[in-house]
Order: sequence, then C-alpha cells, then structure tokens
Amino acid sequence: MGKVSKAGRVLRGVALNKELKFAVGLSTPITQTILEAHQPSAQGLLAMSRAATAVGLLSTTIKGRQQIGLQVNGDGPLGELYALSNSEGELRVTAGNPSASAEPHSEIGAIVGTGRFTLIKTSDSGEPYRGTVPIFTGGIAEDLAYYFMFSEQVPTACGIGESIEGDHLLTGGYLVQSLPSPSEETLSTLEQRVVTLPPLKDILNSERPLEMLLELLFMDDYEILEESDITFKCPCERPKFARTLLTLGKTELRKIREEDGEMNIACHFCGDQFHFNDAEIGALISGARD
Ligand SMILES: [Zn+2]
Repeated sequence: MGKVSKAGRVLRGVALNKELKFAVGLSTPITQTILEAHQPSAQGLLAMSRAATAVGLLSTTIKGRQQIGLQVNGDGPLGELYALSNSEGELRVTAGNPSASAEPHSEIGAIVGTGRFTLIKTSDSGEPYRGTVPIFTGGIAEDLAYYFMFSEQVPTACGIGESIEGDHLLTGGYLVQSLPSPSEETLSTLEQRVVTLPPLKDILNSERPLEMLLELLFMDDYEILEESDITFKCPCERPKFARTLLTLGKTELRKIREEDGEMNIACHFCGDQFHFNDAEIGALISGARD
C-alpha cells in the first residue's frame, strides 16, 4: 500500500429551500501528504492541492464503485494535472512537473496554461464518461464551476483556497450546485452570498471553518445530510508494478538486467519507491512473454 494521509473532513447536504446541494470540506492533511510525496513548488503544491480538494468535494456526488476524476491538460510548465477519488473520499493526485513555477507566482493558472479541463466519471461497471471544456482560469475552482455551467448546464458555485503562513498551511473549499428546477430567487441569493463571501483564507483560519462557510452561504437554511472523511490514499503495491514490468517482455527485461542489474520504480501518485533486484528481475524474465 502506498502513502495514506490523515483524514480531512467533508459535510454534504441541501440548502436554500432544498433547491441546492452542497459539499464543504477541509483538505489540509491531504495537502500535507502532497507536499511530502511530490516536493512541489509553491504553485505546484496549490495546483495539486486544489485538484485534490475538488475531487474530494466531488466524491460526495458519487456512490458505490463509481470514481470521479479531473484531468487538466494545459500548455504551462506543470504538464498534465490529474486527480482521482472513489466514493469513499479516498483520493490521489499527480502532475507532470510538480516543481514547475512561472510568473506571476500569485496565480496558479500561470503554471497550468491554456488547454483542456476534463471531468471523468466512472460508472459502477467501470465505464468512463468524459466531459471537456477549455481551461477557464486554471485556478481549478473557477474551472470546475465553468465546467458544470457549460458542459452539464448545472448552475454551480465553487471556491477552493488556502491559507499559508510560513509552515502553517490550511486548505479547503466548497461546491454548491443547483438541484433540478431551482427558483430564480434561490440562484440570485446564492450568487449574492458568494460575491460577498470573505476571502477563504480568513474562513479557513476561523475556529469552525465548515460551519462558518455554511452559515455565510445559507444563513440558517441548510441541512447536513452526511459527514465523512476524505484522505489521500494511494492503492499502489508491489505486485501491480511487477505486472507492469512483465508487459515489457523478456527482451526488454534482459536488457535492463544486463545494463543496470536492478530497478527502482516510483509511484507517480505518492512517490513510494519499489526496488527490484537482479534475482527478482530474473524471476520476471521467466514469467514474461518473448
Ligand atoms: Zn502510490
């Protein structure tokens, strides 16, 4: 088993005359694990943390064996950003170049660039559904709201952010979506509340940030239906890597054995290293196809 973080927290429920559904979450322990696993730049950390928080919030919208993923393919130095969660809120994230940075350093979009923003939903049977929109700002939350508005025609408000003071880091956010046939009044109330919301940084630093978010967005017109954990949990394991190595075939494996005598493979989601020595490569060669 690969890296596992401590649990973050997500609340899911309905609000404003039950015309909206929401998820609010704190993802700080996940962000700390991303920091350990990927040694990212400041911008890289925030891009990965926001993508992870986004799929954590989205995990409340799926059930059973379904999975939900975000794939951001921009032309910036970060390369492909990919985050994935199951319905238990067990998630992981990777990026082509986590240590990327670019001017202006205050904008995550600077390392993301322009390109495609894709949401991937996998059904119980493993069948994937993909929807793609152009990257809007690259700040992830805005892109997710844009995706739901234009690809699925679901009015959506999303904010994902962080507070960083020295080594003290807090991350979290909200996702509010309209249920079918919302009233104009509900949508305009939500819009107003989002516009007047204090910076997420301030909310994250409050004593009970999730409850504060709910009160600021919905006053007292909300109902929490479920509280659950979100964790960075990578399912990587040695046998999986061994199976991947087998697919290289006898010839390629023999070449590796002759040239290096050993192999180190790192999981690109959690950074855990898997070592295969000469004898183990030998065993793989006997099991591999010609
Ligand atoms: Zn892993």
